[in-house]
Amino acid sequence: MGAQIIDGKAFAAQVREKVAGHVAHLRQAHGVTPGLAVVLVGEDPASQVYVRSKGKQTVETGMNSYEHRLDARTGEAELLALIEQLNSDRDVHGILVQLPLPAHLNEDLVINAIAPEKDVDGFHISNVGRLATGQKAMVPCTPLGCLMMLREHHGSLSGMNAVVVGRSNIVGKPMAQLLLRDSCTVTIAHSRTKEIEEVTRRADIVVAAVGRPEMVTGDWIRPGATVIDVGINRIDAPEKGTNEDGSVKTRLVGDCHFESCAEVAGAITPVPGGVGPMTIACLLANTVTACCRMHGLAEPEGLTA
Ligand code: NAP
Repeated sequence: MGAQIIDGKAFAAQVREKVAGHVAHLRQAHGVTPGLAVVLVGEDPASQVYVRSKGKQTVETGMNSYEHRLDARTGEAELLALIEQLNSDRDVHGILVQLPLPAHLNEDLVINAIAPEKDVDGFHISNVGRLATGQKAMVPCTPLGCLMMLREHHGSLSGMNAVVVGRSNIVGKPMAQLLLRDSCTVTIAHSRTKEIEEVTRRADIVVAAVGRPEMVTGDWIRPGATVIDVGINRIDAPEKGTNEDGSVKTRLVGDCHFESCAEVAGAITPVPGGVGPMTIACLLANTVTACCRMHGLAEPEGLTA
C-alpha cells in the first residue's frame, strides 16, 4: 500500500476540541451557550443511533442538546409547529431534522420551514442558493468535513482537477460547489456518465459518494491522487462467521475498494474512520458558527468553508 491514510477520526477529535474551546469562550466572554435541537420522527434504528451520537457529542463539547422524539405517525402540521417553536427559541442556534422522514411527510417542505440561519444541515433552499452564489451559507456537514480534510492535506486546492462521483443534494452537489469555491476544476460524474473510469483517472482529487460498495477500484485512480470515500455500506462478511440467530456477520465498506485504491492513490480516507466521524464534528462546528452569526460575534477560524 502506497497511500497515506487521512485519519478522519483523529481530525474529527481536533475539530471537536476546537469547537469545545470556542464554546467555553462564548460562555465566559459573552454568556452564550450554543444549543442544538435534533428532531427525530419515528423509530428507524440507524437514525436513532445517529441522533444519540449527535446528542452525546453536543453535550461533550459543552453545548446544550435538545432532543425531540416524535411518533412515526406525527402529522405535518404538528412537525411544522415544533419547527416554528424552535425557530423562535433564542436558546436554540441549530435545528436538525433527522432524515429520512416517514413517507407521509414532505421533506422539502419540512426542511424549508427551518429558519435558514439555524439550518445546521445546510439543506434549506436559501443555504443551497447562498453556497452556489458564493455568499455566506450554512454548509452541509459531510461535504464540509471532506473539504476540511482536503485543505488540511493539500493546503491550497487551487487549480486541482476534482471529480465528484455522485450528484445527490446532500453530498455530491454541495461537495462540487465547495471544491469550485476553492478554485478546483470540477467534474460531477453520475450513473449516466460515459467511461467514468477515464473521467476519474484524470483527477487529482476523487470524491466518491455513490452508495455502491467498493465500486471505485484502483484502476479508476491516477497515481498519486487523493481519494475521499464518503460511502458507508454494510456488506456480508462470511469470514467473520455468523451471529447468534444464524445470520452472516457484516462489515462496513466504502464506495471505494480500499486495498486497490490505496495501492495507487497518494492519500485516501478509510471506511470506517474517514469521512464518517468528520460529519458529526462538522455539525457541532456549524452549530457554533450559527450561534456566532446570530449574536454578531466573531466566528472561530477553520470551522467553516
Ligand atoms: P444517493 O442520494 O443515493 O446518490 C447517489 C449518487 O450516486 C447519485 O447521484 C447516483 O447517480 C450516483 N450513482 C449511483 N450509481 C452509480 C454508478 N454506477 N456510477 C456512477 N454514479 C452512480 O446517495 P448519497 O446520499 O449522496 O450518499 C452516497 C453515499 O455516501 C452512501 O453510501 C451514503 O451512505 C454515504 N453517506 C455518508 C455520509 C457520512 O457521514 N460519511 C453522509 C451521507 C451519505 P444518479 O443521480 O444518476 O442516479
